Amino acid sequence: MNFCSHCGSADLKKIVPPGDTHHRYVCGNCHTVHYQNPKVVTGCLPVWEDRVLLCRRAIEPAYGRWNIPSGYLENGESVVDGALREVREEAEAGVRVD
Ligand SMILES: [Zn+2]
Repeated sequence: MNFCSHCGSADLKKIVPPGDTHHRYVCGNCHTVHYQNPKVVTGCLPVWEDRVLLCRRAIEPAYGRWNIPSGYLENGESVVDGALREVREEAEAGVRVD
């Protein structure tokens, strides 16, 4: 991280902020703490009678491999809502989560 995404300052330090347990980039200008967390992937395995619905990847990585309909969670979306959206987007299927 070279610049603060909040104020644009290059005055960033990687420190453990007070009350935290991990090193974070903290802006020396606006004091914003920049959390870098993993992206959450959501999806589900649709089951109908004795069959499951899988998707074949059309892009890299793992082009051509089979996978459950899944993808990155969007901001403000629940894990279940994201899974339902991904199944609809990738397989054009409507599912119910039990
Ligand atoms: Zn800043």
